Parts: sequence; structure tokens; C-alpha cells
Amino acid sequence: MSVSSGLPQGFNPHEYDAVVAGASFAGVVCARRLAEALGYRVAVLERRESVVGNPGDYLGVAGVSDVHGLLGVRTPRVVSFFARFASNLDTSLDAPQVISVDQCAELFEAVLDHDLIDVCCSVDERELISFDDTHVLLNGEVYGGEVVYTGALDALFGTDLGPLPYPAPTPPVPSESGTLYPDCGIIDPASRDRFEAYLDCIEGVTNFHPAGRLAEYRNYDMDAAVESALELSDELIACHS
Ligand SMILES: Cc1cc2nc3c(=O)[nH]c(=O)nc-3n(C[C@H](O)[C@H](O)[C@H](O)COP(=O)(O)OP(=O)(O)OC[C@H]3O[C@@H](n4cnc5c(N)ncnc54)[C@H](O)[C@@H]3O)c2cc1C
Repeated sequence: MSVSSGLPQGFNPHEYDAVVAGASFAGVVCARRLAEALGYRVAVLERRESVVGNPGDYLGVAGVSDVHGLLGVRTPRVVSFFARFASNLDTSLDAPQVISVDQCAELFEAVLDHDLIDVCCSVDERELISFDDTHVLLNGEVYGGEVVYTGALDALFGTDLGPLPYPAPTPPVPSESGTLYPDCGIIDPASRDRFEAYLDCIEGVTNFHPAGRLAEYRNYDMDAAVESALELSDELIACHS
């Protein structure tokens, strides 16, 4: 893995088989699986300064303690995916545990630590990406690889169709089933039509894949975001194997 601040000199997204926007739960899982299962060269672009972007920011927010719950027990596949990377976490627990921002950063770095993955922090995917009716364009040229986007969908289109509200979830409380936010439904049901209108903008673009809490606009806890990323990467792996 190489990590740079900004795009390295001579960076050409077209030299990569996949570009992943966002180095958080959904993004790191997709990047790792595409590199490992398909031998893809993957560029991970993270608009924040480090790989623990959004979760790092949540810490200290009113109502959120200095730790996160992680690895709810309802999703064994999530636990087993992280088990080999999470040397600083106990993946045998039968209840969500707490994780500090440093542990979160270490976990993401371990998942991204692969020869075929390059990470560029302080880079906003929106600087590179545009669309025609059926293609993703990167730096103005049709891109032949896969793009996984884990940022907010409205921001990708400059909120042209109006903003999607992204309220901070209430502080998570583990439920009996182990989920932190038991309802993985749409974040703001009143904004469903607007969210679907954004989805319509990318309907015919087969190599662009929204993933995770912001892009799918769903009340995902970390496990649910990872589970969704595992499913998306399954589909991409099946499609390209
Ligand atoms: C206040 C708050 C507290 C929370 N507490 C918990 C908790 O305790 N436990 C729990 O399980 N879940 C919690 N959650 C939910 C949890 O944070 C999410 O489920 C999880 O972070 C989702 O991961 P993700 O990868 O889908 O998205 P995110 O973690 O939101 O990551 C998206 C990443 O994409 C990057 N990005 C966005 N746009 C671009 C772009 N254009 N170009 C490049 N990069 C981009 C962002 O910087 C970010 O790093 C909390 C959420 C909030 C808002």
C-alpha cells in the first residue's frame, strides 16, 4: 500500500482497475476484496486528511462518546472479515464493543495494507468524476474500471436536485439482535423521492456503485455498512471472475 497526501505526481486513474471514493468501513472493505479476489489495482481516494475520515469526525460530537460500537454479533461474516486484520480488537465478543478513533485508524490501515492498493488522502473524488448517460468519466475520459462511491449522493451532483438531509444518528444503543440501529431503512423517508431522483441520474451507468451509509442513504451502523460492502464486492467479484 502506498499512502499520499493529495494525488501523487503523474497519477492517472485510468491505470487502476477500480477507484474507491471514501476510506471508511464500506470503502476499505471493497478496496481490499477487489485487490485480493480479482488482483485489481485499486486507488482509494479519501477527501479527509486520513483514512479514518468520518468516524474520526464523529468523535466528540454531542451525544457521542469518545468511542464507537463495532462488530455487532448478528453478522458473523463481518466479524470473520475483520478477524484477520483486527489485532487490536476482540472479534470473539458476543456483543458490540467499543473502539477508539486510533483503533479504527489502525483497522482501516490494516485492511488497506495490500500491494495493489494506493491510498490518496485529501482528495475529493468530485474533482475527477463526471458522467455521460452510460459511463463514468474520470478526468474527462471514459473510465473502463469500476467506481465504488461511499460519499453523499447529493454532494456528487452539487445538490442540483436539492439537498438530502443527513441527520446525525442518535447515540447507538445495542439491541437484543446486536444491531446498533435496528432499522436499516432510508435515513429520511420524507426525502425518498429526492434520493431516488439522484439514483435516476446514475441509472444507466453500469460501472458506478454507491456503497455505505451516505451513498445508499440508509441508517447503517458499521456492521450494516460492511455487510452491504461485502455484498457489493461479491457481485463485482462474480461479474469479473
Ligand atoms: C454522529 C454519528 C455517530 C455514530 N456512531 C456509531 C457507532 O457508535 N457505532 C456504529 O456502528 N455506527 C455509528 N455511526 C454510523 C457509522 O458511522 C456508519 O455506519 C459508518 O461510518 C458507515 O461507514 P461508511 O463507510 O458507509 O461511511 P462513512 O463512515 O460516512 O465514510 C464515508 C467516507 O467517504 C469519504 N468521502 C465522502 N465523500 C467523498 C468524496 N467525494 N471523495 C472522497 N472521499 C469522500 C468521507 O470522508 C468518509 O471517510 C455513527 C454515525 C454518526 C453520524
